[in-house]
Amino acid sequence: MSHPVIEVDDCVSCGACVDACPTAVLELGEIAVEVVDGDSCIACGTCVDVCPTGAITEIVDD
Ligand code: SF4
Ligand code: SF4
Repeated sequence: MSHPVIEVDDCVSCGACVDACPTAVLELGEIAVEVVDGDSCIACGTCVDVCPTGAITEIVDD
């Protein structure tokens, strides 16, 4: 299973990663984006590429 790692302090809740994710892994939460369906992450890296603040630091397998 893969999922993105999000630095909450760096997230500005712009929603770019939510819109770009092909498998709806991410949703905007109260203070930052949240992983809501990690099981669906295909580790494509798109969310990392579109984030303007570098808040998504890596995609990890666990
Ligand atoms: S790596 Fe791809 S599938 Fe996984 S959360 Fe990011 S955009 Fe979605
Ligand atoms: S693209 Fe980056 S700053 Fe925008 S909501 Fe996603 S993690 Fe937060």
